[in-house]
Amino acid sequence: MWSSRNISYAGRVQLINSVLLSLHIYWAQVFMLPQTVLRDIEKICRAFLWYGNYFSTVPGSIQWEKVCRPKMSGGLGFRRIKDWNKAALAKYVWAITTKQDSLWVKWVHAVYIKEDSWWGYIPPKNCSWYWKQICNVKETMKLHYNEDEMKNMTQFKIKEVYNKITEEEERVHWDKMIWNRLAVPKHRMINWLAIQGRLKTADRLCMMGVITDDQCKLCCEHKESHQHLFFQCSYVKRIMKSVFEWLGFKSRQDQLMRLMMIMNSRSGKSRVVKQIHAAVITASVYYIWWARNEVQWNMIVWRPEKVYRIIRECIVMRITSVLPRKISSKDIDWWENVKRKL
Ligand SMILES: [Zn+2]
Repeated sequence: MWSSRNISYAGRVQLINSVLLSLHIYWAQVFMLPQTVLRDIEKICRAFLWYGNYFSTVPGSIQWEKVCRPKMSGGLGFRRIKDWNKAALAKYVWAITTKQDSLWVKWVHAVYIKEDSWWGYIPPKNCSWYWKQICNVKETMKLHYNEDEMKNMTQFKIKEVYNKITEEEERVHWDKMIWNRLAVPKHRMINWLAIQGRLKTADRLCMMGVITDDQCKLCCEHKESHQHLFFQCSYVKRIMKSVFEWLGFKSRQDQLMRLMMIMNSRSGKSRVVKQIHAAVITASVYYIWWARNEVQWNMIVWRPEKVYRIIRECIVMRITSVLPRKISSKDIDWWENVKRKL
């Protein structure tokens, strides 16, 4: 029933997180799921995210491994089911370490570990498959915890252990802008793809052999690439000029890039104002991409002034409905003023 292309990316992300990636949760706590099962679950999630289908052999726009990174590391924050499985089974490692009062733990100590130290324990070759798996998970845990840390854990929380074993070093600088609460949800995915240069622009479609003409249909002057579309295209600059004037930035700044820099700088602007700016950027990127698709696939050319008006109306409607209640009167005045401006 979900095999529908009509659900937006944002809706699919929600469904994957709340339903598809929860299917294995019960079994993940019982045993190590076979690799083929884990791979199959991931395949379904992948096909559903990119194509709204349960099966696809065409790869997605971004590697699954990257999609599963936390948002602050540039991903969508999906659970990595293999690591989740390990974190769930680590409960047994913890139970043995802390000698929890259970028949199974007593039995394991009496039959397998005996006088040995659990942390240094190596399973005999002829032991059961299940016990070997638990010992393997213990080895993974040793990379992230020492024995005392595990002993001092009074309560076992899968999520905490999962976060620890999947910790990422890499940190991106744009996550706050894209996953900003005030931005329109369906704009976020397009921005997430755009900022990684993964929208299917004409130069990429040509490389894939889908089309043969890589010219930008908005300005008809240059080759269409991410760089061109969002930073150099004269059509887009006309939209952004109006956006800048609306927000009260100096009129000579007409590049998206400038807007991002202004947003990131310590401009002395409040958090809410910065969030609204970020929502304007994400809406601009979304509607630029929309206008580009209209001309590319439907042969409809919208005037830049019209696109700007759509962006403005969309932002005013969105911000009016989600603006936090507790904001300073200065910010309210600023917003009321922006709202009124033509
Ligand atoms: Zn152009």
